[in-house]
Amino acid sequence: MTEYLLKILIVGDGNVGKSSFVHRYVNGQFSKNYKMTVGVDFSVKLLKWSEKEKVRLQLWDIAGQERFISMTRIYYKGALGCIVMFDVTSSSSFLNCPHWKNDLDNKAMLPNGNSIPCILLANKCDLAQRAVSAENIDKFSKANGFATWMETSVKENKNIEEAMRRLVKEILLVQ
Ligand code: GDP
Repeated sequence: MTEYLLKILIVGDGNVGKSSFVHRYVNGQFSKNYKMTVGVDFSVKLLKWSEKEKVRLQLWDIAGQERFISMTRIYYKGALGCIVMFDVTSSSSFLNCPHWKNDLDNKAMLPNGNSIPCILLANKCDLAQRAVSAENIDKFSKANGFATWMETSVKENKNIEEAMRRLVKEILLVQ
């Protein structure tokens, strides 16, 4: 059995659902008032990838540090994949995605100098009051080097496992 250790970052504006996403994926729960304990750096999830491969995921949520204009390099160190998340009901959280992607590309890269695999998640798709169209998301995703984008609802458990599987697949492809 081969085991991979993958450090994955989750970035994006505050309140888009990053902590809830990690909590849902790792603990299988959605709790309205959940906040990761301050001081905890990452959550771990073991994934059986195939008959011969296991993946140990380290999920790093920036947990309240979004107020800093850019994240510390330590946070990015050794990261092999990234999720940029926004809230479909908040156009400002979408408009800030280039900032998060640029910050990532400036601070984390593969040994060959390429960008680390990154997917864009449009969260809270359970809510009716959309502020960003699928067409705009698709254009942005293609123009900014995302492997793909997906709509998610952490609340309704939509596309959470799928998004993580897709990201892990992209990461293993470039290892
Ligand atoms: P973070 O600041 O990006 O870590 O965001 P949180 O995980 O703290 O979530 C912010 C708020 O959005 C909380 O009240 C969550 O319960 C709520 N939330 C997160 N994901 C969803 C979702 O998919 N749908 C809805 N309706 N609310 C969500």
